[in-house]
Formats: sequence, C-alpha cells, structure tokens
Amino acid sequence: MGFKDQYDFDSLVNEAEELVVAEIARQVPESPGLCTCSECILDVAAYALNQVRPRYRVSLLDSVYVDAEERDAYLAEIRRAVRDGIRKVSANPPHD
Ligand SMILES: [Zn+2]
Repeated sequence: MGFKDQYDFDSLVNEAEELVVAEIARQVPESPGLCTCSECILDVAAYALNQVRPRYRVSLLDSVYVDAEERDAYLAEIRRAVRDGIRKVSANPPHD
C-alpha cells in the first residue's frame, strides 16, 4: 500500500475554493460582459484561486480563521480576486 493510500488526503479542503465559487455566483449577475459558459466561469475561478492565499483545512475540523477581522480581510481579498478574474476573462474569453 502506497503512502498516499494510507491517509485520506481527500479530506483536505481548500476553503478558498468554496469562498471563490460563492463570490463568483454573487458577482456574475452584476457582470453583464462575462460569458457564463462553463469554460469562462472555470477560468475566472482558476484565476481568482491563483491570486489568493490557499486556506487548507481538514474537513472534519473547524474553520481555520483565527478571528473575525482576519476573516473579513480574507473575504475582501477573495472579492478583489474574483472581480479581477471577471474583468480579465470578459476582456479575453478563452474561446471565440
Ligand atoms: Zn464562455
């Protein structure tokens, strides 16, 4: 049995991913210039996720945030990254 099979690495969750997806859902209606096909939305998600710091946690455990202030700062980072991603993909969609 390989090392990777001995542990449940699937239970690692990047909280950034959940937050970015929720934020994209929130910003899409305010972004008429953005194509909402799967390719474009996933491009926005990938762009935004590459901008923000990852927040891994083990899914069984509580959130990694230490305090509300830090959480607010992180959410602001997520909002900015999604806004930039939408701007980039709107200006330059991955397809014709
Ligand atoms: Zn598209």
